[in-house]
Amino acid sequence: AFQASHIPPDTLGDLGRSVSAEESDDSMSVEAPFTGERIGDVPACSPRDVTAAVSRARTARTEWSSWSIERRADVLSRFHDLVLDRQAELLDVMVLESGKARRDGYEEILDVATNARYYAARAEEFLRPRRRDGAIPLATKTMEYRTPVGVVGVITPWNYPLTLAVSDAIPALLAGNTVVLKPAEETPFTALLAAKLLREAGLPEDAFRVVTGWGDEVGLALIDAVDFVNFTGSTETGRTVAERAGKNLVKCSLELGGKNPMLVLDDADVSAAVEGAIRGCFTNAGQLCLSFERLYVQDGVYDRFLPRFVERTRELSMDPSFDYDVEVGSLVSERQFEKVRNHVDDAVSKGATAVVGGNARPDVGPYFFEPTILTGVTEEMTVAREETFGPVVAVTRFSDDEDGIALANDSDRGLNASVWTTDSDRGWEIARQIDCGTVGINDPYHAIWASVDSPMGGMKDSGIGRRHGREGIRKYTESQTVAEQRF
Ligand code: ADP
Repeated sequence: AFQASHIPPDTLGDLGRSVSAEESDDSMSVEAPFTGERIGDVPACSPRDVTAAVSRARTARTEWSSWSIERRADVLSRFHDLVLDRQAELLDVMVLESGKARRDGYEEILDVATNARYYAARAEEFLRPRRRDGAIPLATKTMEYRTPVGVVGVITPWNYPLTLAVSDAIPALLAGNTVVLKPAEETPFTALLAAKLLREAGLPEDAFRVVTGWGDEVGLALIDAVDFVNFTGSTETGRTVAERAGKNLVKCSLELGGKNPMLVLDDADVSAAVEGAIRGCFTNAGQLCLSFERLYVQDGVYDRFLPRFVERTRELSMDPSFDYDVEVGSLVSERQFEKVRNHVDDAVSKGATAVVGGNARPDVGPYFFEPTILTGVTEEMTVAREETFGPVVAVTRFSDDEDGIALANDSDRGLNASVWTTDSDRGWEIARQIDCGTVGINDPYHAIWASVDSPMGGMKDSGIGRRHGREGIRKYTESQTVAEQRF
């Protein structure tokens, strides 16, 4: 019943076999979160397999970086078309191995397409050699060039298995680097299918290699072999990655967790704020780094906001289905499910109230958990500070704007926030006082996520570096200054 219609019978097996693991005979199995059943195996690469993959990518770099940027952009433009043409197949694989709702997968399709299109069009401009002022302008000529760093290692989590695997690789490739990707253990097949489409688009085979395997083994071996590390994942693992990269003196860019606040001000449009909270808290079953887990509602609007938010939350549909009408999908794994359940149980046992939700739904699927709104959350509860990464939000009231801002900033994370108000000036003023890399005004995260021209990333413990825009491609380059003295 859960077999996706568009996945031809041996597709997963072929994808698994496309990883070259000459040293290791070990494999790891992948399960369908909808049922907990095993759906296939991929190799568990050894550290030597990783080194071999990186050295193939290093060899491929010479040819790839000798192509003109226009020619590289043509490959990424064809990839854009292929992702759109083959979206049904990509979505089936994504839904099968991540358990997400199809509509959440569709956002990945759009995000990859946008990134490919944007960087294919703009890379040349971002990387163009630029004349610089010399010390004695008339007697010197000074130029700044951007040179690819070399081989970029990309390490990704399971929550957005398509877009996180390729969207950060796209600018790296356009800048003339080659890439070795280590996808999450839970979701390797989507990444392997994306690699296949990149090849079909004309990318030389070794310019994008995938190494599947265990995080600490394959991940660390990759960091030791590459010239730049792009990591997306938890803050805890991010520290280990940065430490190792630091030891090797290779640069890294880290997009880590959040504990994102949403502020609903007393002059907010209540129905817009309720819809924003539904989207912002429960998209991808809350397994989204930009998702809101702390919702602060001002006194004047609290009693109108909360009942409507509860009512809308109760209406959300959950179903282990590949169809577009599912609103909330499964959690990805038993580990994630246990974490969410523990956060909720801990909060309730310490006095919080689940005004809606709060329960696992084994009748729907083994890792389904109800969208949950908690009130009465206090400091001693785990859910107050730690990222849950599930469909769970704590709602708290506040009185004046300063208190709201202070509450929003009372976190060691600083990824995303949103402010809801009908007074645009007030919205912008408050947004600028929140210590987060992105802030949406009357928007949960879509304007930010979709705006590939502006930087996105975290302040505080939410990361280092940014994706998107000029910064998102220049980070994969080294500058070289050449200056000539003219007598
Ligand atoms: P989660 O706990 O949500 O699975 P992680 O941050 O641990 O998130 O995982 C993100 C990615 O980092 C995965 O691809 C995982 O395999 C990888 N990873 C895990 N541990 C390490 C490590 N020590 N070094 C490098 N990568 C790692």
